[in-house]
Amino acid sequence: MGKIMLTGDRPTGRLHVGHYVGSLKRRVELQNTGEFDDIFIMIADAQALTDNADNPEKVRQNIIEVALDYLACGLDPEKSTLFIQSQIPELCELSFYYMNLVTVSRLQRNPTVKSEIQMRNFEASIPVGFFTYPISQAADITAFKATTVPVGEDQLPMLEQTKEIVRKFNSIYGDTLVEPDILLPENSACLRLPGIDGKAKMSKSLNNCIYLSEEPDEIKQKVFSMFTDPTHIKVTDPGKLEGNTVFTYLDAFCRPEYFAEFLPDYANLDELKAHYQRGGLGDMKVKRFLNNVLQAELEPIRNRRKEYQKDIPYVYEILKKGSEKAEQVAAETLRDVKEAMKINYF
Ligand code: ATP
Ligand code: MG
Repeated sequence: MGKIMLTGDRPTGRLHVGHYVGSLKRRVELQNTGEFDDIFIMIADAQALTDNADNPEKVRQNIIEVALDYLACGLDPEKSTLFIQSQIPELCELSFYYMNLVTVSRLQRNPTVKSEIQMRNFEASIPVGFFTYPISQAADITAFKATTVPVGEDQLPMLEQTKEIVRKFNSIYGDTLVEPDILLPENSACLRLPGIDGKAKMSKSLNNCIYLSEEPDEIKQKVFSMFTDPTHIKVTDPGKLEGNTVFTYLDAFCRPEYFAEFLPDYANLDELKAHYQRGGLGDMKVKRFLNNVLQAELEPIRNRRKEYQKDIPYVYEILKKGSEKAEQVAAETLRDVKEAMKINYF
């Protein structure tokens, strides 16, 4: 059996560097190795509506923003199918049948759902659609018979839930669905990149992001406002790395060649960290280095984004073609599912 990748993002805002290191960069690398028979990249607008029902315009407008971010990062429509979730009605039908395989208490125990309910102050009034989104995510993944789902750590409980649905379906109705594997970032700093406030994970909903489309002066300003070690006051003070966002970002973004280019006094990140811990290295110097690193990483992405931005109808055309292809594949899976369930009466 071949390898099939599925992953995606909610169009609730432009994509940020957390998405990039958590999932996007890996997708592009895997796309370019050619090891996948098929790659599906979904803009999850229907899922975004589960907690933005009163703001459909925000979701609508961000579809193109996310698509531009994809293309800017190097997702290639010749190699990857980029599509819009709501254009694939088969996904709803699959969700409808999967709902019977999951209990309310199992959904309540899903740790990501729990923390997202808290974050959105939904405790007393959870929209049913939001509560059940892990089931619709299982439909998204299984519709494309995905074997591999490259995502950040917050998605682990979703993948667990999907696997359970697959096992339950296959055990009742016979082998039909494919069990997917999660592919987490190898670099632990990228599993859940913190926001520039150093608190929670970087998230569109928390206003603590550096966006992929950010202009150079905005990047600089955000880097210089970053949280470091509050006890590292004088340059001579020893500094802590733990919880120090600037070093977490260096772990996530720094490449060895950046030392020769921007900070030739140090051979590598370990030397820089050791100096900081000993004392004698100021926050400003480290922030200046991180700024250079991020500018170097983001400049080509921003420039490519501006090119695609000049031809928005072309970007919609890519999404239309991708959605058409995605629907054909999802329709095949739905046929298999209904056949397995013996509800193909005519
Ligand atoms: P929202 O606040 O609307 O949920 P989000 O910023 O959490 O937005 P999603 O669209 O939910 O973004 O996530 C898309 C993908 O990016 C998922 O694979 C998720 O694991 C990954 N991701 C999001 N934020 C981070 C982060 N800070 N670090 C690593 N990966 C992340
Ligand atoms: Mg999220």
